[in-house]
Amino acid sequence: MNIPFRADQAKAMAGFLQDLVRIPSLSTHEEGVAKRVADEMRRVGFADVWTDRIGNVIGRVGQGGGPKLLLNGHMDTVDLGGPARWPHPPYEAVIEDGILYGRGSCDMKGGLAAMVYAVNALKDARIELNGDLYVVAVVQEEPCEGLAMRVLVEEEGIRPDYVVLGEPSNLQVRLGHRGRLEMRVDVWGKAAHASAPSLGDNAIHNAARLIFGIELLAPRLATDEFLGQGTIAVTEIESHAASRNAVPDCCTFYIDRRLTLGETERKALAEIQNIINTEEVGAEVVVTEYQATSYTGYECRARNAFPAWVMPEDHPLVQATVRCVRETLGDRPRLGRWSFSTDGTYTAGVANIPTIGLGPGEEQYAHTRDEQIRLNDVVDAARVYARLAVELLGKR
Ligand SMILES: [Zn+2]
Repeated sequence: MNIPFRADQAKAMAGFLQDLVRIPSLSTHEEGVAKRVADEMRRVGFADVWTDRIGNVIGRVGQGGGPKLLLNGHMDTVDLGGPARWPHPPYEAVIEDGILYGRGSCDMKGGLAAMVYAVNALKDARIELNGDLYVVAVVQEEPCEGLAMRVLVEEEGIRPDYVVLGEPSNLQVRLGHRGRLEMRVDVWGKAAHASAPSLGDNAIHNAARLIFGIELLAPRLATDEFLGQGTIAVTEIESHAASRNAVPDCCTFYIDRRLTLGETERKALAEIQNIINTEEVGAEVVVTEYQATSYTGYECRARNAFPAWVMPEDHPLVQATVRCVRETLGDRPRLGRWSFSTDGTYTAGVANIPTIGLGPGEEQYAHTRDEQIRLNDVVDAARVYARLAVELLGKR
């Protein structure tokens, strides 16, 4: 059963995607795009459209009383980066030879447009779904993946049976990714005049011993056959001293830790604590906290701890998705992993909701000045999403 997707729908969807790219939407400033998404949802035939407390836009169709499928796309984008010129202006959404250029085109306003137009295709084909299909356009995914989905599930009470993440996968199927943990290490010492350092205890020297220990730890981190090895990197360091003529009594550094399957936050913290104990240095390691105010005024707080997740290949959601891609696009999709982190860290990693990734756009263009997406791929994604909704929910 192929659901028709006409040329005029493809044209309308491209126009909608251009609007999304033309409205800048840095994290916590998604209001303009949110309004545009809600308007389009109402226009193309969603039954209910509303905005929740953190600012997610939620569109729903279906007869209820059955399973719930949630298509997830984030509205926020990263900033433009340094002053170097973009080959195409970042917020103009120029289309050339079927490719749309601009910030957010690939990561991931293209996926979001496809999700909204999947519902349009179902409506046009007069297909009434059993259960509920939700398209959720979330906020603040870039700085704090999973946060907005946690609010949706735990505070708004929408708990889907399946989640599809529309992050760029070039229409291949993604089964998971490594987790992420951000840690801060405060290291202490004793101040003294720098002309007599032996009277003090240098916090920078103490931190250096810990950092060397971290370098030695890196090659010994656990490896998973599918997700690869965990990694650890010191990414920022700062110290405090009375002046450049003083021995510093405090030094703080930050660690980016990628967790492979089986590695937990507890284990990662214990590894650092072990180094502190071995070196007999006065220091404390903690997980950092994310804090922000959403455009709706909601006070966001989250620990920067995001577990790894992987879906088994034989899971019914994976099998259904593979079938839908093959029957809609003709080729069997490859099953792989993402190198970046997504909202799946909450839906699959914390809430245990079956989750897969499938979206238009190539991962290599995300966060770059070359950001772009093939409009044909956005159409293909919309067709696959529509078909997957029928496959998973059934129709009347
Ligand atoms: Zn993204």
